Amino acid sequence: MTGFDQADLFENDPDALDLDDDRLREECGVFGIFKHDDAAAMTTLGLHALQHRGQEAAGIVTFDGSGFYSERRMGLVGENFDKRSVIERLKGDSAIGHVRYSTTGETALRNVQPLFADLDTGGFAVAHNGNLTNALNVRDEIIKSGAICQSTSDTEVILHLVAMSKRPSTVDRFIEALYRIEGAYALVCLTNDMLIGARDPIGIRPLVLGRRDDAYVLASETCALDIVGAEFVREVENGEVVVITDNGVQSHHPFPKRPARPCIFEYIYFARPDSYMEGQCVYEVRKRMGDQLAAESPVDADVVIPIPDSGVPAAIGFAQAAGIAFELGIIRNHYVGRTFIEPEQRIRQLGVKLKHSANVSAIRGKRVVLVDDSVVRGTTSLKLVKMMYDAGASEVHMRISSPPITHPDFYGIDTPNQKKLLAANYDLEGMRKHMGCDTLAFLSVEGVYKAMGRGERNKNEPQYTDHCFTGDYPTRLTDREGAPEPRQLSLLAEAG
Ligand code: AMP
Repeated sequence: MTGFDQADLFENDPDALDLDDDRLREECGVFGIFKHDDAAAMTTLGLHALQHRGQEAAGIVTFDGSGFYSERRMGLVGENFDKRSVIERLKGDSAIGHVRYSTTGETALRNVQPLFADLDTGGFAVAHNGNLTNALNVRDEIIKSGAICQSTSDTEVILHLVAMSKRPSTVDRFIEALYRIEGAYALVCLTNDMLIGARDPIGIRPLVLGRRDDAYVLASETCALDIVGAEFVREVENGEVVVITDNGVQSHHPFPKRPARPCIFEYIYFARPDSYMEGQCVYEVRKRMGDQLAAESPVDADVVIPIPDSGVPAAIGFAQAAGIAFELGIIRNHYVGRTFIEPEQRIRQLGVKLKHSANVSAIRGKRVVLVDDSVVRGTTSLKLVKMMYDAGASEVHMRISSPPITHPDFYGIDTPNQKKLLAANYDLEGMRKHMGCDTLAFLSVEGVYKAMGRGERNKNEPQYTDHCFTGDYPTRLTDREGAPEPRQLSLLAEAG
């Protein structure tokens, strides 16, 4: 433990997370639909359902048989794509869309996806969820061979690779491009006559296939199928490329077969609770994590209080398993915009009260179990533990329904600086003292796997991508190899 101070997290740190600012999140959501009369409207709805995966910007590209149309905007889907005129400009019966959340650097419209290029084979639009771990290396190479990159977004690298391929068909070109990239990707692409979906060889980021009447749909999560009334067909498999044309769905498996390793954090935090992944409802899995946590780290208490909204399912599971009353002891204000307050340290410290308020009647004089899904920098727990005591709690027991996050992520969640991870700086007792609670416990890695119902963690080839907790990275991290300082361009960090 080396001089870790909560102030270090914020002072002069443009990336710092505070309670009214979920800037840490760098997930994205993708959606695509092929041959539906209301393609743009359906995509708008799909992106709206995926809004939790990214609130910074949204974009849609459509194709109407002769031309491509693109609208890319900063802000929420509902704020930008509500006007009939916008939807009407997006002509055509096929579309792809993207919602993004960036963490660092300027947020430039040019980085908003889908990205589009006119290739000699016709138009090609791509939307990407995930992060490539060798994009900088590939970028250096393609620049040497003459490419002119407009941004440092890793997704742009994919476009260049497709454009530069000498293979005859667009699908072959796309697959050749995939051979060059590493890391995490769920991609949807739109061409003159195809909707293409692809998942990286171990399927780190999710992608599902659905169908509504004769139209096929691709989406990051099943909640986006539900909103457009599409039935779930199946998940796109790890390492699979699905090509949707007028002739239906064609499946390619260009990579050697490997077991899937989806990101475990989708289950813990990212995915919407009503989505299904690998046949399981995310909400039920989260409840089981709470249940398991109660079994591993029981506590005598009067009330279980979730940190809203992320801790709610696990807190329900905990309360039910422990036989303790579940109370909404923290009320969340959903209407706090990210730009509502200036990001000055002094002001941001006040920020917590804007987003969370204590419901004193449920807290005063009680022994409280506070449940959240994860601790990243410890900011949320630190402030909300204090809020519980200030509201009159006699004891505060913090319970976290995932293991300590000790390692940064390079696959789409931007936690590149290990120094900022609380659990990378403190042992359990140090974290407890830092938060100021009476007791603190995390769900064990084994407990997470138990809650997932997938058997014990396979040490040689774990069933999930769980590097945040274990340091077991499932792919090469080429851009970081041998680099004295992690190589990451500011704009690259914006590609989700
Ligand atoms: P922290 O306050 O830094 O410890 O972050 C933990 C809180 O942020 C918890 O309430 C989590 O639900 C939430 N959280 C976890 N991962 C992320 C993420 N990638 N982006 C935004 N919030 C997150």
